[in-house]
Amino acid sequence: EDKLLDKYTFDNFIVGQSNRESHAAALSCAMTPGKFFNPLFIFGNSGLGKTHLLHAIGNYVKQNQPDKKVLYIYSEDFITLVVNSIKDKTIEEVKEAICNVDYLLIDDIQRLAQWGRSQEIFFNLYNKLISNDKQVIITSDIHPSELKGIETRLISRFSSGLSVGIDSPEFETAYAILEKKLEGRQEEVLVQREVLEYIANRFSADVRSLEGALNNLIFKAILFNPEIIDLKFAVEVFKENPAVVNQDDTLSVMRIKKAVCEFYGLTRQQIESKSRTKSISNARHIAIYLCRKHMDLPFSKIGAEFGGRDHSTIMSSYDKMTKSIKQNDMTAQAVGKIESKLGIS
Ligand code: ADP
Ligand code: MG
Repeated sequence: EDKLLDKYTFDNFIVGQSNRESHAAALSCAMTPGKFFNPLFIFGNSGLGKTHLLHAIGNYVKQNQPDKKVLYIYSEDFITLVVNSIKDKTIEEVKEAICNVDYLLIDDIQRLAQWGRSQEIFFNLYNKLISNDKQVIITSDIHPSELKGIETRLISRFSSGLSVGIDSPEFETAYAILEKKLEGRQEEVLVQREVLEYIANRFSADVRSLEGALNNLIFKAILFNPEIIDLKFAVEVFKENPAVVNQDDTLSVMRIKKAVCEFYGLTRQQIESKSRTKSISNARHIAIYLCRKHMDLPFSKIGAEFGGRDHSTIMSSYDKMTKSIKQNDMTAQAVGKIESKLGIS
């Protein structure tokens, strides 16, 4: 059966710097399956558009190559399917059906982690598909090399195609997404430009929070029916609803990471990664230092935010940076600039 959601298409996917690569790779797989990158592995934090891209591929193929078979499946549903069909003794048919698809779109692969037996079945299906030049596209919330609980032989196969990251939207992209979402709505609401700018600035950690903030605003607009949805109204709305606000106005680990990444021209995946490249690890130390100094988080909590590092690793980063700021003017200046960007100098 067809689990594709019509509402997610390439047409309504806004492309910006944060998702340019993953969008281009997805589109090229949709146009020419199995040829260039196989598998295509898209990774990035939650709410950044991975599921949207998978469905967009499926919908594109359905429309432009109607003879091709597409299967979209959420990893947990795959596990359920396998477990149930083993019980029903229909597993052979299920396997055969999966082997016959032209596109396998598998969402949130990190969720396969705990499931030994299903992994084995997946591994075999995966190999068959790839060796028959069938296109496999996988998403995950982390880089393939950091998947835990998934067999290494499977991980190394994942890395044999193309892995592309997807990042938090920068301001322009966030703004364009808001405009698009507003355009697609039933209600006739006039939202002032400054209001969209305000939301784009404040809720851009991920696209899901952007959408949530817009929905919240419109809901309040219908409720209170203001003459005009201006900045004053928006500020009032988001003051009233701290649950939605917490993203970007108060200091957060995400904001610190973003500020450091912007300053050094790195991606968030890079500073969270295991990379020991000097420029990357230096930026990582600074971000860790700022999280400790300004948010006073426990070292272990910070470690979890930086690729699952342990308490002592984070502590030593913090100590190193504290020393380095005292001894090195350049470092001190860089940290100062980032702090002032964050409004915490
Ligand atoms: P993920 O699977 O990465 O957690 P989703 O694909 O579910 O994220 O995206 C969350 C929401 O954000 C969806 O409603 C999706 O349509 C929207 N979204 C994400 N990126 C974009 C984009 N570039 N343009 C338009 N909408 C987007
Ligand atoms: Mg998703």
